[in-house]
Amino acid sequence: MTGGKLIVFSAPSGSGKTTIVQHLLKQEILNLDFSISATSREPRKGEIHGKDYYYISLKQFKQHIKNSDFLEWEEVYRDNFYGTLKTEVDRIWAKGKNVIFDIDVVGGLRIKKKYPVETLSVFVKPPSVDELKIRLKKRKTESEEKINMRIAKASVELATAPQFDFIIENIDLEVALKEAEVLVENYINKSDE
Ligand code: 5GP
Repeated sequence: MTGGKLIVFSAPSGSGKTTIVQHLLKQEILNLDFSISATSREPRKGEIHGKDYYYISLKQFKQHIKNSDFLEWEEVYRDNFYGTLKTEVDRIWAKGKNVIFDIDVVGGLRIKKKYPVETLSVFVKPPSVDELKIRLKKRKTESEEKINMRIAKASVELATAPQFDFIIENIDLEVALKEAEVLVENYINKSDE
């Protein structure tokens, strides 16, 4: 694999990283394309196969693991597997674009470790765990049990923040979006020199 840059956004669920990543994808100057992960979880209402995720069965997922098809993979929640297929990065680099990832902290750090020079790793920090709970409840995409599972994981994830290249505190979304834009633009421009 050779080519463009890898931009990793990781954060606890509900931190706003997906909103930030979607905003960055709209900035043509950044020349980004989204790394579509494979997952064994069920699609949520409105999600599209081949756009949000590649929705595959647990059996298919395990076969990909066996075949070493993943750049990284993780059982993010029990029986919910998520992973980045190597072909996904090849597909985007072949188009001459930079790859942007919306993945969990373990996967994000793994990519940084594999490609230390090509990767910018960014952690999106929510104002507090309480605020995270409020946001997840508002989103209404998960059951109470799943929200609690995500909150329990968030505290562990927050502890990994110092291992990332940058931390963006998502207190005010507009500020966080601008900060992310400048950060990624500087990184891409700097590495083009
Ligand atoms: P959700 O179910 O809310 O879409 O995602 C749950 C978590 O899995 C999020 O933190 C999301 O960023 C993460 N995730 C999505 N794709 C991947 C992936 O390919 N690898 C890893 N390690 N995590 C992922």
